[in-house]
Amino acid sequence: QAKNSGRNQFEFYNKSLDTQALERLKIENELRKALDKNEFNLVYQPILDLSTNRIADVEALIRWENDTLGSISPMHFIPIAEETGLIIPIGDWVLRTAFKQLELWNNSGYPPISVAINISIRQFYQAGFINQIQQLLQETNVQPDQLTFEITESMTMDIEAAKEILYHLKKLGVNISIDDFGTGYSSLSYLKSLPIDYLKIDKSFINDINTNKDDKSIAITMLTMAQSLGINVIAEGIETNEQLGILQQHLCNKGQGFLFSKPVPVEELNKILEMESVYF
Ligand code: C2E
Ligand code: MG
Ligand code: MG
Ligand code: MG
Repeated sequence: QAKNSGRNQFEFYNKSLDTQALERLKIENELRKALDKNEFNLVYQPILDLSTNRIADVEALIRWENDTLGSISPMHFIPIAEETGLIIPIGDWVLRTAFKQLELWNNSGYPPISVAINISIRQFYQAGFINQIQQLLQETNVQPDQLTFEITESMTMDIEAAKEILYHLKKLGVNISIDDFGTGYSSLSYLKSLPIDYLKIDKSFINDINTNKDDKSIAITMLTMAQSLGINVIAEGIETNEQLGILQQHLCNKGQGFLFSKPVPVEELNKILEMESVYF
Protein backbone atom coordinates (compact mmCIF):
# COMPACT_ATOMS: atom_id res chain seq x y z
CA GLN A 1 0.00 0.00 0.00
CA ALA A 2 2.79 2.34 0.94
CA LYS A 3 4.46 1.47 -2.33
CA ASN A 4 1.32 2.26 -4.23
CA SER A 5 0.72 5.63 -2.70
CA GLY A 6 4.38 6.38 -3.24
CA ARG A 7 4.06 5.69 -6.90
CA ASN A 8 0.87 7.70 -7.19
CA GLN A 9 2.55 10.57 -5.54
CA PHE A 10 5.45 10.29 -7.93
CA GLU A 11 3.15 10.28 -10.91
CA PHE A 12 1.16 13.18 -9.56
CA TYR A 13 4.32 15.13 -8.95
CA ASN A 14 5.57 14.32 -12.43
CA LYS A 15 2.36 15.37 -14.08
CA SER A 16 2.07 18.61 -12.21
CA LEU A 17 5.63 19.43 -13.11
CA ASP A 18 4.78 18.84 -16.77
CA THR A 19 1.79 21.10 -16.54
CA GLN A 20 3.83 23.72 -14.75
CA ALA A 21 6.59 23.58 -17.33
CA LEU A 22 4.10 23.80 -20.15
CA GLU A 23 2.32 26.75 -18.62
CA ARG A 24 5.59 28.48 -18.01
CA LEU A 25 6.67 27.93 -21.59
CA LYS A 26 3.40 29.36 -22.82
CA ILE A 27 3.81 32.43 -20.65
CA GLU A 28 7.39 32.81 -21.82
CA ASN A 29 6.37 32.61 -25.49
CA GLU A 30 3.60 35.15 -25.05
CA LEU A 31 5.88 37.38 -22.97
CA ARG A 32 8.34 37.55 -25.88
CA LYS A 33 5.63 39.02 -28.11
CA ALA A 34 3.91 41.17 -25.51
CA LEU A 35 5.83 44.41 -26.09
CA ASP A 36 5.28 44.31 -29.86
CA LYS A 37 1.61 43.55 -29.32
CA ASN A 38 1.33 46.47 -26.92
CA GLU A 39 -0.11 44.29 -24.17
CA PHE A 40 1.41 46.09 -21.18
CA ASN A 41 -0.09 48.92 -19.27
CA LEU A 42 0.87 50.87 -16.17
CA VAL A 43 -1.56 51.47 -13.34
CA TYR A 44 -0.84 53.85 -10.48
CA GLN A 45 -1.51 53.48 -6.77
CA PRO A 46 -1.59 56.59 -4.57
CA ILE A 47 0.88 56.77 -1.67
CA LEU A 48 -0.42 59.07 1.05
CA ASP A 49 1.38 61.31 3.49
CA LEU A 50 0.00 59.88 6.74
CA SER A 51 0.39 63.14 8.63
CA THR A 52 -2.03 64.91 6.26
CA ASN A 53 -3.82 62.01 4.53
CA ARG A 54 -3.03 63.66 1.18
CA ILE A 55 -1.54 62.00 -1.88
CA ALA A 56 2.23 62.39 -1.84
CA ASP A 57 3.31 60.05 -4.63
CA VAL A 58 2.06 57.23 -6.81
CA GLU A 59 3.59 53.81 -7.44
CA ALA A 60 3.65 52.64 -11.05
CA LEU A 61 2.64 48.96 -11.33
CA ILE A 62 2.73 46.97 -14.54
CA ARG A 63 -0.27 45.07 -15.91
CA TRP A 64 -0.26 42.46 -18.68
CA GLU A 65 -3.37 41.54 -20.64
CA ASN A 66 -2.86 38.72 -23.16
CA ASP A 67 -5.48 37.59 -25.69
CA THR A 68 -5.16 33.90 -24.87
CA LEU A 69 -3.82 33.88 -21.30
CA GLY A 70 -5.97 36.71 -20.00
CA SER A 71 -4.52 39.02 -17.38
CA ILE A 72 -1.38 37.71 -15.70
CA SER A 73 -0.18 39.04 -12.38
CA PRO A 74 3.26 40.68 -12.26
CA MET A 75 4.00 38.43 -9.30
CA HIS A 76 3.77 35.61 -11.82
CA PHE A 77 5.43 37.03 -14.94
CA ILE A 78 8.10 39.36 -13.53
CA PRO A 79 10.17 36.44 -12.18
CA ILE A 80 9.94 34.76 -15.61
CA ALA A 81 10.93 38.02 -17.28
CA GLU A 82 13.89 38.19 -14.89
CA GLU A 83 15.07 34.66 -15.67
CA THR A 84 14.77 35.04 -19.42
CA GLY A 85 16.27 38.52 -19.60
CA LEU A 86 13.02 39.89 -21.03
CA ILE A 87 12.91 42.19 -18.01
CA ILE A 88 15.43 44.45 -19.75
CA PRO A 89 13.16 45.53 -22.65
CA ILE A 90 10.11 45.37 -20.36
CA GLY A 91 11.89 47.48 -17.74
CA ASP A 92 12.87 49.99 -20.46
CA TRP A 93 9.23 50.22 -21.47
CA VAL A 94 8.16 50.81 -17.86
CA LEU A 95 10.74 53.60 -17.46
CA ARG A 96 9.84 55.32 -20.72
CA THR A 97 6.11 55.05 -20.05
CA ALA A 98 6.41 56.39 -16.51
CA PHE A 99 8.59 59.32 -17.67
CA LYS A 100 6.12 60.11 -20.45
CA GLN A 101 3.26 60.08 -17.97
CA LEU A 102 5.14 62.30 -15.54
CA GLU A 103 5.78 64.73 -18.37
CA LEU A 104 2.06 64.78 -19.19
CA TRP A 105 1.22 65.45 -15.54
CA ASN A 106 3.85 68.19 -15.36
CA ASN A 107 2.36 69.84 -18.45
CA SER A 108 -1.23 69.61 -17.30
CA GLY A 109 -1.13 71.90 -14.29
CA TYR A 110 -1.45 69.35 -11.52
CA PRO A 111 0.58 70.01 -8.41
CA PRO A 112 3.93 68.25 -8.92
CA ILE A 113 3.52 64.55 -8.40
CA SER A 114 6.23 61.97 -7.99
CA VAL A 115 6.31 58.41 -9.20
CA ALA A 116 7.85 55.33 -7.60
CA ILE A 117 9.11 52.81 -10.14
CA ASN A 118 9.95 49.17 -9.36
CA ILE A 119 13.39 48.19 -10.61
CA SER A 120 14.35 44.54 -11.01
CA ILE A 121 17.74 43.18 -10.08
CA ARG A 122 18.87 42.62 -13.67
CA GLN A 123 17.86 46.12 -14.63
CA PHE A 124 19.64 47.57 -11.61
CA TYR A 125 22.92 45.80 -12.39
CA GLN A 126 22.71 46.28 -16.15
CA ALA A 127 25.58 48.38 -17.52
CA GLY A 128 24.08 51.59 -18.78
CA PHE A 129 21.23 51.81 -16.25
CA ILE A 130 22.52 55.07 -14.79
CA ASN A 131 23.04 56.53 -18.29
CA GLN A 132 19.54 55.53 -19.25
CA ILE A 133 18.07 57.43 -16.30
CA GLN A 134 20.31 60.40 -16.94
CA GLN A 135 19.24 60.49 -20.58
CA LEU A 136 15.54 60.25 -19.73
CA LEU A 137 15.99 63.14 -17.30
CA GLN A 138 17.65 65.19 -20.05
CA GLU A 139 15.01 64.38 -22.66
CA THR A 140 12.01 65.21 -20.48
CA ASN A 141 10.95 67.94 -18.08
CA VAL A 142 10.83 65.42 -15.24
CA GLN A 143 12.70 66.63 -12.17
CA PRO A 144 14.86 64.03 -10.42
CA ASP A 145 13.08 64.51 -7.09
CA GLN A 146 9.87 63.40 -8.84
CA LEU A 147 11.35 59.92 -9.07
CA THR A 148 11.78 57.13 -6.58
CA PHE A 149 13.36 53.84 -7.54
CA GLU A 150 12.17 50.84 -5.57
CA ILE A 151 14.73 48.11 -5.11
CA THR A 152 14.62 45.08 -2.82
CA GLU A 153 16.89 43.96 0.00
CA SER A 154 18.26 41.06 -2.03
CA MET A 155 19.68 43.56 -4.52
CA THR A 156 21.97 44.94 -1.81
CA MET A 157 23.59 41.57 -1.04
CA ASP A 158 26.71 42.68 -2.87
CA ILE A 159 26.96 45.79 -0.78
CA GLU A 160 29.87 47.42 -2.60
CA ALA A 161 28.30 46.95 -6.03
CA ALA A 162 24.94 48.26 -4.77
CA LYS A 163 26.62 51.21 -3.08
CA GLU A 164 28.32 52.22 -6.33
CA ILE A 165 25.09 52.26 -8.34
CA LEU A 166 23.08 53.95 -5.60
CA TYR A 167 25.78 56.60 -5.26
CA HIS A 168 25.44 57.47 -8.95
CA LEU A 169 21.65 57.45 -8.75
CA LYS A 170 21.72 59.77 -5.74
CA LYS A 171 24.06 62.08 -7.64
CA LEU A 172 21.35 62.41 -10.28
CA GLY A 173 19.01 63.55 -7.48
CA VAL A 174 16.47 60.72 -7.46
CA ASN A 175 15.08 58.94 -4.37
CA ILE A 176 15.69 55.34 -3.36
CA SER A 177 13.27 53.00 -1.58
CA ILE A 178 13.83 49.54 -0.17
CA ASP A 179 10.71 47.60 -1.18
CA ASP A 180 9.18 44.63 0.69
CA PHE A 181 11.34 45.45 3.68
CA GLY A 182 11.61 42.64 6.22
CA THR A 183 11.03 39.77 3.80
CA GLY A 184 14.53 39.32 2.40
CA TYR A 185 18.14 39.73 3.34
CA SER A 186 18.25 39.83 7.11
CA SER A 187 21.38 41.82 7.90
CA LEU A 188 20.38 45.33 8.84
CA SER A 189 23.87 46.78 8.82
CA TYR A 190 23.60 47.62 5.13
CA LEU A 191 20.99 50.24 5.92
CA LYS A 192 23.45 52.61 7.47
CA SER A 193 25.98 52.33 4.66
CA LEU A 194 23.59 52.84 1.75
CA PRO A 195 21.98 56.13 0.68
CA ILE A 196 18.36 55.12 1.24
CA ASP A 197 15.45 57.55 1.46
CA TYR A 198 12.58 55.17 2.23
CA LEU A 199 11.88 51.78 3.68
CA LYS A 200 8.64 50.17 2.58
CA ILE A 201 7.36 47.80 5.26
CA ASP A 202 6.05 44.73 3.48
CA LYS A 203 2.30 44.22 3.58
CA SER A 204 2.74 40.84 5.28
CA PHE A 205 3.62 42.75 8.49
CA ILE A 206 0.83 45.30 8.08
CA ASN A 207 -1.84 42.69 7.44
CA ASP A 208 -2.16 41.56 11.08
CA ILE A 209 -0.67 44.60 12.76
CA ASN A 210 -3.81 45.16 14.81
CA THR A 211 -4.43 41.52 15.76
CA ASN A 212 -0.99 39.93 16.04
CA LYS A 213 1.33 41.19 18.79
CA ASP A 214 4.47 39.94 17.05
CA ASP A 215 3.67 41.61 13.74
CA LYS A 216 2.87 44.80 15.59
CA SER A 217 6.16 44.83 17.48
CA ILE A 218 8.12 43.98 14.32
CA ALA A 219 6.49 46.84 12.43
CA ILE A 220 7.06 49.27 15.31
CA THR A 221 10.68 48.14 15.62
CA MET A 222 11.22 48.78 11.90
CA LEU A 223 9.67 52.24 12.30
CA THR A 224 11.79 53.11 15.31
CA MET A 225 14.96 51.86 13.67
CA ALA A 226 14.30 53.75 10.43
CA GLN A 227 13.48 56.92 12.35
CA SER A 228 16.75 56.73 14.27
CA LEU A 229 18.65 56.26 11.00
CA GLY A 230 16.86 59.22 9.42
CA ILE A 231 15.06 57.03 6.87
CA ASN A 232 11.40 57.61 6.06
CA VAL A 233 8.93 54.75 6.22
CA ILE A 234 6.14 53.76 3.84
CA ALA A 235 3.66 51.09 4.93
CA GLU A 236 2.31 48.81 2.18
CA GLY A 237 -1.06 47.13 2.10
CA ILE A 238 -3.07 49.28 4.51
CA GLU A 239 -6.63 47.96 4.29
CA THR A 240 -8.32 49.08 7.50
CA ASN A 241 -8.62 52.16 9.69
CA GLU A 242 -7.30 50.13 12.63
CA GLN A 243 -4.05 49.41 10.78
CA LEU A 244 -3.80 53.06 9.74
CA GLY A 245 -4.37 54.19 13.35
CA ILE A 246 -1.49 52.12 14.71
CA LEU A 247 0.84 53.33 11.95
CA GLN A 248 -0.11 56.97 12.50
CA GLN A 249 0.31 56.59 16.23
CA HIS A 250 3.88 55.45 15.60
CA LEU A 251 4.54 58.27 13.14
CA CYS A 252 4.83 56.23 9.97
CA ASN A 253 5.51 58.81 7.23
CA LYS A 254 3.58 57.44 4.27
CA GLY A 255 1.25 54.60 3.37
CA GLN A 256 -0.52 52.92 0.51
CA GLY A 257 -3.23 50.31 0.37
CA PHE A 258 -6.74 49.42 -0.64
CA LEU A 259 -8.09 51.56 2.23
CA PHE A 260 -7.09 54.62 0.18
CA SER A 261 -7.11 53.29 -3.36
CA LYS A 262 -6.29 50.26 -5.47
CA PRO A 263 -3.83 50.74 -8.31
CA VAL A 264 -5.87 52.55 -11.00
CA PRO A 265 -5.48 53.48 -14.67
CA VAL A 266 -4.28 57.01 -15.50
CA GLU A 267 -7.77 58.36 -16.30
CA GLU A 268 -9.03 57.29 -12.91
CA LEU A 269 -5.99 58.63 -11.11
CA ASN A 270 -6.47 61.96 -12.88
CA LYS A 271 -9.96 62.18 -11.40
CA ILE A 272 -8.55 61.51 -7.94
CA LEU A 273 -5.86 64.15 -8.47
CA GLU A 274 -8.44 66.67 -9.65
CA MET A 275 -10.53 66.06 -6.55
CA GLU A 276 -7.44 66.49 -4.38
CA SER A 277 -6.22 69.63 -6.11
CA VAL A 278 -9.44 71.43 -5.18
CA TYR A 279 -7.94 71.64 -1.71
CA PHE A 280 -4.49 72.82 -2.75
P1 C2E B 1 5.29 45.69 -4.85
O1 C2E B 1 6.24 46.58 -5.53
O2 C2E B 1 5.54 45.37 -3.43
O3 C2E B 1 3.86 46.37 -5.06
C1 C2E B 1 2.83 46.36 -4.13
C2 C2E B 1 1.82 45.29 -4.46
O4 C2E B 1 0.85 45.25 -3.42
C3 C2E B 1 1.03 45.56 -5.74
O5 C2E B 1 0.74 44.30 -6.34
C4 C2E B 1 -0.24 46.21 -5.22
O6 C2E B 1 -1.34 46.08 -6.09
C5 C2E B 1 -0.44 45.42 -3.96
N1 C2E B 1 -1.23 46.14 -2.95
C6 C2E B 1 -1.25 47.46 -2.71
N2 C2E B 1 -2.08 47.76 -1.69
C7 C2E B 1 -2.59 46.58 -1.26
C8 C2E B 1 -3.51 46.22 -0.22
O7 C2E B 1 -4.03 47.05 0.53
N3 C2E B 1 -3.78 44.89 -0.08
C9 C2E B 1 -3.23 43.95 -0.88
N4 C2E B 1 -3.57 42.67 -0.68
N5 C2E B 1 -2.37 44.25 -1.88
C10 C2E B 1 -2.05 45.55 -2.06
P2 C2E B 1 0.92 44.03 -7.90
O8 C2E B 1 0.55 45.26 -8.67
O9 C2E B 1 0.25 42.76 -8.22
O10 C2E B 1 2.49 43.85 -8.05
C11 C2E B 1 3.16 42.77 -7.47
C12 C2E B 1 4.64 42.92 -7.55
O11 C2E B 1 5.10 42.85 -8.89
C13 C2E B 1 5.15 44.26 -7.05
O12 C2E B 1 5.17 44.28 -5.64
C14 C2E B 1 6.52 44.31 -7.70
O13 C2E B 1 7.43 43.53 -6.98
C15 C2E B 1 6.25 43.64 -9.03
N6 C2E B 1 6.04 44.68 -10.06
C16 C2E B 1 4.92 45.35 -10.39
N7 C2E B 1 5.14 46.23 -11.39
C17 C2E B 1 6.45 46.13 -11.70
C18 C2E B 1 7.30 46.79 -12.66
O14 C2E B 1 6.91 47.70 -13.40
N8 C2E B 1 8.61 46.39 -12.68
C19 C2E B 1 9.11 45.41 -11.85
N9 C2E B 1 10.39 45.08 -11.94
N10 C2E B 1 8.34 44.80 -10.93
C20 C2E B 1 7.03 45.14 -10.85
MG1 MG C 1 7.04 48.35 -5.17
MG1 MG D 1 6.35 46.75 -2.15
MG1 MG E 1 5.38 43.96 -1.44
